[in-house]
Amino acid sequence: MSENTENVRCLIIGSGPAGYTAAIYAARADLKPVIYLGMQPGGQLTITTEVENYPGYPEGIKGPEMMEDFRKQAERFGTDVRFGVVIAVDFSKRPFKVEADDGKTLFAETVIVATGASAKWLGLESEKHFMGMGVSGCATCDGFFYRGQDVAIVGGGDTAAEEATYLSKLCKKVYMIHRRNELRASKAMQHKVFKTPNIEMIWEHAPVEVLGDSTGVTGVRVKNVNTGETRDLKVTGFFVAIGHEPNTQIFKGQLELHGAGYILTVPGTTRTSVEGVFAAGDVQDHYYRQAVTAAGTGCMAAIEAERFLSS
Ligand SMILES: Cc1cc2nc3c(=O)[nH]c(=O)nc-3n(C[C@H](O)[C@H](O)[C@H](O)COP(=O)(O)OP(=O)(O)OC[C@H]3O[C@@H](n4cnc5c(N)ncnc54)[C@H](O)[C@@H]3O)c2cc1C
Repeated sequence: MSENTENVRCLIIGSGPAGYTAAIYAARADLKPVIYLGMQPGGQLTITTEVENYPGYPEGIKGPEMMEDFRKQAERFGTDVRFGVVIAVDFSKRPFKVEADDGKTLFAETVIVATGASAKWLGLESEKHFMGMGVSGCATCDGFFYRGQDVAIVGGGDTAAEEATYLSKLCKKVYMIHRRNELRASKAMQHKVFKTPNIEMIWEHAPVEVLGDSTGVTGVRVKNVNTGETRDLKVTGFFVAIGHEPNTQIFKGQLELHGAGYILTVPGTTRTSVEGVFAAGDVQDHYYRQAVTAAGTGCMAAIEAERFLSS
């Protein structure tokens, strides 16, 4: 075996709450896990400010700090933490062949995929600038910070409709911005939105700039897609709900995926279509998408990997 080739018992791909939790459990079960951190070490929570809904932090915690704690806990039990991105996998036979961009080829007896699903963004410079200062990709996570305030949400699918309804219970007013003159959301979700008195539809408009100052977001400028006219909505929170992209490109043709690209798992487990490969966190969950559910399935994946190896 060359110095760039190694055998591992448990390889974990991705370092969000799912990957690090899997690492903690796998390391404590003596599986000597190797974890590849990927292009976003610590995962999605590293781009948010306050996390207030993760149990165990009564005062809340900054996302990057929380993920630092996850890493330290995984390392404490001997996880081999590596900077690098997995670029190719071959799950056609065991041990599974995995190639990383650090030049290593690993032969893994089990693999835990925890590569997450990235929120899609509009791509505005101002959106990036006010990220975590009024711009959010998750109403369940951040809606609480805008209680009694006016907010805007952009999107027209089921998630946007669900998040708008969720926000309407916390906020004074919710502007729902959509570029078409009808929603893509299911009829039932549309009905919910339309009968909520504090949701105002801003049809046929697209956000062109997030407005703000040193205190954070103060508004959003929207443009009429037909006339090009702009107007400013006065809001303190701006939610982007235009979809998620599961990070599964390298698993296409290797694992069974949903139509939307998420990894298919056997219900109630983290088992994928390939025995010995497990999937945890947002990469297999288009519904809850929370840190605590990701961590929960990370724990399940490590326990299942351990039982698979000892069976
Ligand atoms: C702005 C924002 C705020 C949020 N706030 C909250 C909150 O307050 N509370 C809450 O519970 N949830 C919150 N969420 C949701 C939460 O972040 C996710 O549910 C959670 O991070 C999912 O964890 P995960 O481990 O599945 O994936 P992620 O956190 O997405 O991590 C995926 C990991 O996979 C790695 N990766 C991807 N591809 C590869 C590859 N090819 N090779 C190696 N590694 C790879 C990435 O580098 C990353 O480390 C928020 C999300 C966003 C976007």
